[in-house]
Amino acid sequence: MDEEDSGQDYIFKIVLIGDSAVGKSNLLARFVRNEFHPNSMSTIGVEFQTQTINVNGKEVKAQVWDTAGQERFRAVTSAYYRGAVGALVVYDVSRRHTFDRIGRWLEELQTHSDMHVVTVLVGNKSDLRDAREVSTDEGRALAEAHGMFFVETSALDSSNVKPAFETLVREIYSILRRKVS
Ligand code: GDP
Ligand code: MG
Repeated sequence: MDEEDSGQDYIFKIVLIGDSAVGKSNLLARFVRNEFHPNSMSTIGVEFQTQTINVNGKEVKAQVWDTAGQERFRAVTSAYYRGAVGALVVYDVSRRHTFDRIGRWLEELQTHSDMHVVTVLVGNKSDLRDAREVSTDEGRALAEAHGMFFVETSALDSSNVKPAFETLVREIYSILRRKVS
């Protein structure tokens, strides 16, 4: 760790986007509180939740924003995207139409964001093996085509949830460090 850097705090705004019911709120609940909610989570009026991540001995705060159901009405506002430096773009591996809409979400992200956004494509519900409609290879190929990271997760069984958020935070951190040094 650099001397000149040691007193600084980092807070990264990260947005969760993707169709309704793909598991965005549960990924966040799993990440921040290690909880899972079998029924869709009701909105509790909180716009974001913060989780501290250790990156190379440095504490970095991930401020993760959840749509709170706005996506249902296609009414995710530009304020939601403002200042975001990272995005988790989520689909449900058991519902192909949520995968087919990823391009739309990326367009929306590009339209509304005011800076370069590091993006991870997240195929959630990997536990639903018998109901799978989107293969891992398809997910990976789409991510590669758009220069995104790729991970399959399960908020239900916790698989890859931490790595999904941490990969994003580490990458944002390393881009930032390259810029200031
Ligand atoms: P959101 O609308 O994208 O925020 O989705 P929610 O987090 O509210 O989840 C929608 C539904 O999918 C709920 O019934 C969750 O219990 C369920 N769900 C979320 N993540 C998973 C997962 O990883 N596996 C399974 N089997 N169900 C999940
Ligand atoms: Mg939600």
